[in-house]
Amino acid sequence: MKHIELSAREARFIRAGVALAPYTTFKIGGNADFFAEVTHTDELREAFLFAHTHTLPIFILGGGTNLLVADEGFRGLIVHVHVRGITYADEHTLTVGAGESLDDVVRYATLHGLWGIENLSAIPGTIGGAAVQNAGAYGVEIASGIKNIEVYDTLTNELRTLSPAECQYGYRDSIFKTDEGKRFVIVHITLALSTRPKPQFSYKDLAAVFPEGSASLEEIRAAVVNIRAAKFPDLKQYGTAGSFFKNPVISGEEYAVLQEKYPLLPGHTQGDGMIKIPIAWILDNVLAMRGVREGDIGAWEAQPLVLTNYGHATARDVDAFAQKIAQDVYEAAGIEIEREVIQVSGI
Ligand SMILES: Cc1cc2nc3c(=O)[nH]c(=O)nc-3n(C[C@H](O)[C@H](O)[C@H](O)COP(=O)(O)OP(=O)(O)OC[C@H]3O[C@@H](n4cnc5c(N)ncnc54)[C@H](O)[C@@H]3O)c2cc1C
Repeated sequence: MKHIELSAREARFIRAGVALAPYTTFKIGGNADFFAEVTHTDELREAFLFAHTHTLPIFILGGGTNLLVADEGFRGLIVHVHVRGITYADEHTLTVGAGESLDDVVRYATLHGLWGIENLSAIPGTIGGAAVQNAGAYGVEIASGIKNIEVYDTLTNELRTLSPAECQYGYRDSIFKTDEGKRFVIVHITLALSTRPKPQFSYKDLAAVFPEGSASLEEIRAAVVNIRAAKFPDLKQYGTAGSFFKNPVISGEEYAVLQEKYPLLPGHTQGDGMIKIPIAWILDNVLAMRGVREGDIGAWEAQPLVLTNYGHATARDVDAFAQKIAQDVYEAAGIEIEREVIQVSGI
C-alpha cells in the first residue's frame, strides 16, 4: 500500500486501510488502500483530486449489494456515495440523493401515494446503484421511473443532467457500465411517478396474489416484501449479492430449439421480440442446483441463482463455483451466461 499523508481536510472524509467485506452484502473482500465517505459534491471533487494527485484507481461504491470484491481488496480509492435526501420537485416527481436506500425511496413513494416503483420493494442497495444496474423485479425496472439523473462528470469536474435516453438503459444495463459512462458519478436521481394507480402484475408470483388484478400500493409493497423474504437469504445471517447471473435474452428461433429439449422452459417475450429465459429454471430443473454447496459457497435452496456465502467463502471460492455453473449451463443449453454481479479487481 502506498504511504500517503492525508491533509487535515482530507482526513475528515478519507481513511486508509479500510476492510471492504463489511461494506458488501456478500461479506467478502480484502482492504481498500483508501476509502472516502462522500456526502456532497465538494467532497466528491476533493476525493477525485486526491486520487488523481496520487495516481490511484477509483471505484464507486453504493450499498455494495451487487459486488464481489477480491480477497486482495482494492489498491486505490473507494468512493462511497452517501449523498442523501428525498424532496418533492412537483406533486409526482421526487429528487433523491444517490446514497438513499432504494427501499426507503420505494417506502416513501408508497406512503405518499406515488405509483411506479412499488414492485421494486425490498431490493437492497442505494438508488444510485440501482440506476447504474437498472435494477428490476416483477416486470418493473427503475429506468421506467427515471426522469433524469444528475451526475458529476469526472472529466470536466462539473455537474450534468442526463436524460433517460442518454443513460442508454437496457436489461440490467446502462451507460454507467460502459467505458464511456464510467466517467460519471450519480449524485441525484429525479423520479417521475404517477398519482394514478397503475399496478403491474405481469409476473406470475405477484399476479397469483392479486387474481382480481387490482390492489393498493401498500398491499403490493407488502406482497413483494413477503415474496422476496421467502426467496432470498436473510442478509443478517448469510452473505449474497442476489442473482449472480443475468437472465439470458435469446432469439425466438433459439428459444424454439431449447423448448424441444426442455418443453416446460419458460420465456418472457421482450419488446423487441427477443425472449428472456429465467436462468434459475435451468439451474433448478436441469442442473438440480438447489442447495448445492461447495464448502462455504452454495446455491440458495429457495432460489439457486442466488449464490450464498454460508460463512467464510472467499472471492476465489465464489469465482470457481460460478465458473462451474456457467460451464454446466453451456453444456446443457448452449447458452453463455453473463455475470450480473460486478467484480472489484481481478478475483
Ligand atoms: C438479497 C439481494 C437481492 C437482490 N435482488 C435484486 C433484484 O430483485 N433486482 C435487481 O436488479 N437487483 C437485485 N439485487 C442486486 C442489487 O441489490 C442491485 O443491483 C442494486 O441496485 C445495487 O445497488 P448498490 O447501491 O448496492 O450498488 P453497488 O453494488 O454498490 O454497485 C453496483 C455498481 O454501481 C456502481 N455505482 C454505485 N453507486 C454509484 C453512483 N452513485 N454513481 C456511479 N456508479 C455507482 C458501482 O461502481 C458498481 O459498478 C439484489 C441483491 C441482493 C443482495
